[in-house]
Amino acid sequence: MANRYFPNLMPDFIAETPQPPPTTAAEEEIAAPGTQEQWIQDYTPYTGVLGTAFLLLKAYQVSNNKNDLNLAAEIVKDCDTASSHSSFNWVLMDCMGSRDVTFICGRAGVCAIGAVIAKHTGDNQMLNYYLAQFKKIKLSKDLPEELLYGRAGFLWACLFLNKHFGEGTIATSYTDAVVDEIINNGRKLGVKRRCPLMFEMYGEKYWGAAHGLAGIIRVLLEYDLKPDQSEDVKGTLKYMIKNRFPSGNYPASEEDRGDALVHWCHGAPGVALTLVKAAEVYRERELLEAAIDAAEVVWNRGLLKRVGICHGISGNAYVFLSLYRLTGNMEFLYRAKAFACFLLDRGHKLIAEGQMHAGDNPYSLFEGVGGMAYLFLDLVEPVNARFPAYEL
Ligand SMILES: [Zn+2]
Repeated sequence: MANRYFPNLMPDFIAETPQPPPTTAAEEEIAAPGTQEQWIQDYTPYTGVLGTAFLLLKAYQVSNNKNDLNLAAEIVKDCDTASSHSSFNWVLMDCMGSRDVTFICGRAGVCAIGAVIAKHTGDNQMLNYYLAQFKKIKLSKDLPEELLYGRAGFLWACLFLNKHFGEGTIATSYTDAVVDEIINNGRKLGVKRRCPLMFEMYGEKYWGAAHGLAGIIRVLLEYDLKPDQSEDVKGTLKYMIKNRFPSGNYPASEEDRGDALVHWCHGAPGVALTLVKAAEVYRERELLEAAIDAAEVVWNRGLLKRVGICHGISGNAYVFLSLYRLTGNMEFLYRAKAFACFLLDRGHKLIAEGQMHAGDNPYSLFEGVGGMAYLFLDLVEPVNARFPAYEL
């Protein structure tokens, strides 16, 4: 277990002398995109070039540099073509009946990000095109519920569009029916008064953000749930809190006894982000305390030997940013900055020395330095930071 992360030798907290706000916009050097052939192999925000477009959109929002926006628009156009014609991912995703539906791994992300970029470039024709394409996406009956490949990932894309274009862009009557379906399916595997909701993916009852309870519930918490649905969501979270590991970390699945993973995808970080949102929605002390406990695990075991946001230090830093936003406690901001400084000071050196893994897709948003760059951009205005493609 110990070789998954660096021991955290940084001080628990150092108070800062107040500084005037930065007067110059942050500049991020974006990795040059590859060839057309490389682009069309993977169009997802997760490991593909759409993640670079999402990062460029963030860079534009921070720096107001139109070059970033225009490059993002070009990339999305190629992702649009790729996701319409690519054989690579369609074969892969067709196995799960989900090639179109999610923000992080499907065509819904291409259309949603494309529409928002077109809004910023003032290209109404492309905006209408992407919105129309999004509305063509159909949910099949055999979809899973999870965030990466299932209904929750589709709902997140709808939330993203409604945030940028106004409530009702994707009609509530439509999304509410999807919410009902997720909860009804969760009740089939759940146990009333114990763990009311449960879901299965790849034959596993996952708890984490990518494939399991934490991710699905995080999305559901954005919706106006009916009272019985809301109680079941809260009851499921309380079951998770009650059954976490003695260390304070959360199992990757119902069957997990290993207490090894402290990732956004599996473990305390993904659950912590859901608990922060739940504390905001339900206003219960128990939920906030559980979020803070999970963040303590992230502080002690979250300096992972990887850089990205899915299972790396960058993603874990967002736990502290989320708690800082909710509580205003400077200790959490310090911890987010400490993780970011660790990456900034030592990330490239540790990767070059082979002590840290650059990620299977080293420039990607979720696995590679793309996620690290996104974190650095978010730290320009920490109070507005959001875990990319997950927090709204
Ligand atoms: Zn991961």
